[in-house]
Amino acid sequence: MFPNLPTNDDEDAALIEPETGEEQVTISLLKQHTYCPRVVYFETCTPGIRPRTYKMQAGQDAHERERQRAARRTLTAYQLPAGERRFDVRLVSEKLGLSGVVDEVVLTPEEAIVVDYKLASWIGENHLVQIGAYGLMVEEAFQLPVRRGYIYLLKLRRFESVPIDEPLRNSVMETLRNIQRIRLYEYMPPPVDQPNKCASCEFRRFCNDI
Ligand code: SF4
Repeated sequence: MFPNLPTNDDEDAALIEPETGEEQVTISLLKQHTYCPRVVYFETCTPGIRPRTYKMQAGQDAHERERQRAARRTLTAYQLPAGERRFDVRLVSEKLGLSGVVDEVVLTPEEAIVVDYKLASWIGENHLVQIGAYGLMVEEAFQLPVRRGYIYLLKLRRFESVPIDEPLRNSVMETLRNIQRIRLYEYMPPPVDQPNKCASCEFRRFCNDI
């Protein structure tokens, strides 16, 4: 009934975002822009300099464990009596020029719900933009309205409901436009004005003006 999109269970597919053409923006990039726009400059204009950190590996391992647990859970957390669940759904939107892998999609005849698992203990703006973008891509892929999503905080074992509303949709679109500007003009944005972000940033040694 619903289109079959590739998942990370498919042969030869690793638990990473799909490779895309030059013009595609990945969901990770969208999230990173919300953390600090300059990270997008380093990622796209100086490729290959980012080290793979322990934190990234730990996040991936936690996702895999949660995926196994989630498959055994009922749909009550999403306030749904029934629905078709898909995990690690790989999405590519030609319309948005965006690609990514969403942890879970729940499909019903009336709506689709997106679910993202997070290792963090709180929800930041970057997480909201990410789930908003998943919502837009799922709408396009499955031709179903997406009105809400859930962020599952792994450490707290808690679901947080996120409305996929107009302000969030606008925020996704604005972030996409800003990323295109950085990539197209190789524009290096100013540093963030929250020093705590810089303290834990992998690009810290490349930012000589902070
Ligand atoms: S060190 Fe600070 S300003 Fe530089 S990329 Fe990281 S967060 Fe942005």
